[in-house]
Amino acid sequence: MRKLFFLILALTLLYYTARGMLKFSGIHYSGFNVILLVILFIFLNSSKKAFWFIGFPISLAYSIYAPIGSLFGRITYRSVASLLATDAVESKEFFKLIPLENYTYPVLLIGALLLSRFILCKNKIYLHKNKTLIIIFIIIAMIKQSPFAFFNDIYSASSNVKKELSFLRSMDKHNSWSDYAEKVSNLSKYTNYVLVIGESARKDYLNAYGYPVNNTPFMSSSNGVLVDGLMAGGISTVESLRLMLTKPNVDLWEPNYKLNVIDLARSAGFKTYWVSNQGFGGDYETPVTTIARRADIKKFFKIGSAASINTSDFELLPEFEKIVKNNTEKKLIVLHLYGSHVNACERIKDFEKKFTVKNPLYKYFGCYVTSIAKTDMFLEKVYKILKNEEIKNNKTFSMIYFSDHGQSHSIDKGKYVLMHLNNSGQPTVSNYNIPLFKVSSYDNKQIKCKSFKSGLNFTNGIGTWLGIKNKLIDPNYDLFDCKNDSNDYGLSEKLKLLPKDMQAIDISDK
Ligand SMILES: [Zn+2]
Repeated sequence: MRKLFFLILALTLLYYTARGMLKFSGIHYSGFNVILLVILFIFLNSSKKAFWFIGFPISLAYSIYAPIGSLFGRITYRSVASLLATDAVESKEFFKLIPLENYTYPVLLIGALLLSRFILCKNKIYLHKNKTLIIIFIIIAMIKQSPFAFFNDIYSASSNVKKELSFLRSMDKHNSWSDYAEKVSNLSKYTNYVLVIGESARKDYLNAYGYPVNNTPFMSSSNGVLVDGLMAGGISTVESLRLMLTKPNVDLWEPNYKLNVIDLARSAGFKTYWVSNQGFGGDYETPVTTIARRADIKKFFKIGSAASINTSDFELLPEFEKIVKNNTEKKLIVLHLYGSHVNACERIKDFEKKFTVKNPLYKYFGCYVTSIAKTDMFLEKVYKILKNEEIKNNKTFSMIYFSDHGQSHSIDKGKYVLMHLNNSGQPTVSNYNIPLFKVSSYDNKQIKCKSFKSGLNFTNGIGTWLGIKNKLIDPNYDLFDCKNDSNDYGLSEKLKLLPKDMQAIDISDK
């Protein structure tokens, strides 16, 4: 009984010592990490030499750093450099920053460790002699190591799948738009509706929007409506599309997956298709694939993370043509491109008309401008497939192209590039500036609109474009009416906090 009391006392002391060591050195002090350190000290306690030559120096190192670490956190290159590379005066000032009480930490840590050893030795408690305990210790220590990775994988994979399945099941029950659907609408004029989702295409790099290099011969000359003023729902793919492709909560800028664009089309009797060159699965893409999965037919060209294989957007076209030709029902076909995704040079390998830049400083922009040209050619090919079907089989069509978000100028290894964030790790206003283009069977002239359109109204706009009547859809809202949206839901305030990016770099003189 007495022994048990002292055992618990010693272990408690050890636990708090270990916890303090990790905490004061800025290391994540989860229960698991603390227990590992406790186990180490229990074993080190088994021999006098081990304790004094290994255990004590370890605790000493932790203790010495504790006053600093409790203030500045984990040891970094910067903290070591500022200690070693400054002169004595500066070091003195550095230590002055540390509150006096922090200097008690080393005394407490070392004191508690020695006291626990004293209690264990004095009462002849030899934990290391108990074989069951040793086995348990070893298993605990190995839980996060490779030999147990197999079991960890089972655990994390199944808990992820469970989470997602339960979410999808909750969605599967019924289509939330149906509660508000009105009778079949005669507003829906066309047979084939195509929504092309671009990737990382920044508006001012498109010739159709004034970029001086002709990289959008199709969009620049085609009949249809070109809207200058659509603002993305966010600065990156998921952040933006989860708001643009659902009817979001506009006050909180939160998506509502139950009111997604695919279910909207389905509620009105459209057959829905989702053909994607983006990744399926992987944590990052899940919110978008959640919407994609609602489609009647889905085809993903990349399984796993989007970057894993470099399939060209052009590979979507045969699949698209099959869909358009084979079926006669009213359709919404979503084509999700990889477009101008980061590392644009990788996106254009199968594209012949490359724009090049001599100045190595701007080399990336040859690739980026070409990737836009490739997307433009993709759109033209889609248009031609649709036009052919219209001529042959009288299937009228309308297609929309927009990009999920723009990008910002940044510097990588001394050269200019475009990324999600600029050089100081911030998105810029340019991340929100995206193209929007529509062309349909009945468009017989070229219209250019300068009108602000909020990404948060996009699903409503898709609803009216599809000619759907639903109580949650404002029938008067039109993406292509050249009128400004009356509300930006706080976007201008958001943008005020962001830096403005430099103008698009003109590669024609580079
Ligand atoms: Zn994106």
